[in-house]
Amino acid sequence: MQESIRSLLAELGEDPSREGLVDTPKRVEKALTFLTSGYKANVDEVLNNALFTVDYSEMVIVKDIDFYSLCEHHLLPFFGKCHVAYIPTNKVIGLSKIPRLVDVFSRRLQVQERLTSQIAETIREKIAPLGVAVVMEATHLCMSMRGVEKQNSFAVTSAMLGTFRENSRTRMEFLELIRLRSAAMPSSSARVACIDE
Ligand SMILES: [Zn+2]
Repeated sequence: MQESIRSLLAELGEDPSREGLVDTPKRVEKALTFLTSGYKANVDEVLNNALFTVDYSEMVIVKDIDFYSLCEHHLLPFFGKCHVAYIPTNKVIGLSKIPRLVDVFSRRLQVQERLTSQIAETIREKIAPLGVAVVMEATHLCMSMRGVEKQNSFAVTSAMLGTFRENSRTRMEFLELIRLRSAAMPSSSARVACIDE
């Protein structure tokens, strides 16, 4: 990977051998490996010993989870807050594991829509709750830095499964509790997260 990064620097018109850049390929490799470490993570290992059987059927919410991801169209960061809720049937996930789950899918090349639904689908698959809701609000550097549609560089996506999809009161309760920064209601026609150009 370091050799490719050295070539890339040269292609950009830089001198990869100048002092400030000598160790850059090594650093970039390390950074990129970390930022895409989600490919190697195993969801079952992450959730290991953290699925509990309980007698609890109220909404569980973990909100304001910071996340950082890379858009697959430009390899530039998009980042923001993720809010997760579910209503258990008889199993819950240890609360500290939810942010870890968000990391597993964030640390890959992503589009925000897929990231959102992967988190929701994984929770559904692992604990079969009555419903799962995931909302993600993110700033996309590929849009704000390039000056493309600056006003839309903040994107909101949502995945509503089970009772959150079927029952508007449950969905509203969740949306009320997370109070979106953008004040925009996520909908199935959420704005595209990243312009593919
Ligand atoms: Zn992009």
